[in-house]
Amino acid sequence: MIGGMSRKVPDISKIQIERKAAEGEVVDVMGGAGRWEVKVHDHGLVALVDVMPRLVPKGKTADFAIVQAARVSYGAGTKQVSEDRGLIRYLMRHGHTTPLEMVEFKFHQVMPIFVARQWIRHRTASVNEYSARYSIVPDRFYRPSVEAVRKQSTVNRQGGEENIDEGTAEQFLAYLDGVEAHYAEYQRLLEKGVTRELARTGLPLNIYTEWYWKCDLHNLLHFLELRMDPHAQLEIRDYAVAMFAMIQAIVPEVAEAFLDYRYQAVRLSRLEVEALRAGGELRTENKRERAEWEQKKKAMGL
Ligand SMILES: Cc1cc2nc3c(=O)[nH]c(=O)nc-3n(C[C@H](O)[C@H](O)[C@H](O)COP(=O)(O)OP(=O)(O)OC[C@H]3O[C@@H](n4cnc5c(N)ncnc54)[C@H](O)[C@@H]3O)c2cc1C
Repeated sequence: MIGGMSRKVPDISKIQIERKAAEGEVVDVMGGAGRWEVKVHDHGLVALVDVMPRLVPKGKTADFAIVQAARVSYGAGTKQVSEDRGLIRYLMRHGHTTPLEMVEFKFHQVMPIFVARQWIRHRTASVNEYSARYSIVPDRFYRPSVEAVRKQSTVNRQGGEENIDEGTAEQFLAYLDGVEAHYAEYQRLLEKGVTRELARTGLPLNIYTEWYWKCDLHNLLHFLELRMDPHAQLEIRDYAVAMFAMIQAIVPEVAEAFLDYRYQAVRLSRLEVEALRAGGELRTENKRERAEWEQKKKAMGL
């Protein structure tokens, strides 16, 4: 890029900006609050710091911005989808997701690094994270209670549902104590002049980080669908559920349609539809697919 002096500053002095009043009374979707906060675990936090649109016509929610955008594409001709809730449900059912991108959420979140590592895989958000090169990492560590230490599942390699016996849980927490004790060493080495960027490399995965995370509603629903799912790790699920509670209050109609058509919906493959029609077996030797079909049938009460 050449830039610099070869660029002329455009003359904007003659551009007239008309500042028009809102058509009717408007209200703040966050009720005038500076931020909304939900505490997660001992040191974690989900704070909603801003929403677009922040101001909506009195009596409406931020669902309004989705309907407003969708109506541009429908024009004046389609009166039959003119009811707001019906339109939002139609968009959700048919995967017309662009209007959902008209709503954005900015969060401040505090979470352990092992949660942040899973979270950051969602590439569609804008993120600005605390710099452990620039600043000293505070001594906040994730530590489950004795009752919350889970036993490795024998059917799901990535998780655990039941609790482990108390003795082993206490042993696990003592192991975490040992890891946390290294924090004093981190401080000592910083005092001796080791750079922050190197000293941090000895810190454990259960220490907390924090970031600002901005995402549009379409991508946020994708995040929530994956991370509120029982297959996601409980610790990140707790954050996802806190975020869902917040957005539910801002876009209640989208939240309802999300639960109805995505989160609690059952998607069937062609083989599954055939099995359903014929009232017979699923035509596959794949054990995993068969197990998933059994789960789906159970979810549908069959
Ligand atoms: C229960 C669970 C277990 C998991 N286990 C593992 C694991 O063992 N190992 C592992 O590495 N990961 C694992 N993941 C992470 C997973 O593979 C995804 O990286 C993560 O869920 C983000 O999903 P995404 O890419 O759809 O989301 P986002 O990054 O938010 O992207 C949203 C959508 O945008 C599109 N998109 C974004 N970027 C691109 C791109 N560059 N090219 C094309 N399309 C793009 C895609 O359609 C994508 O679905 C796991 C996730 C879950 C929920």
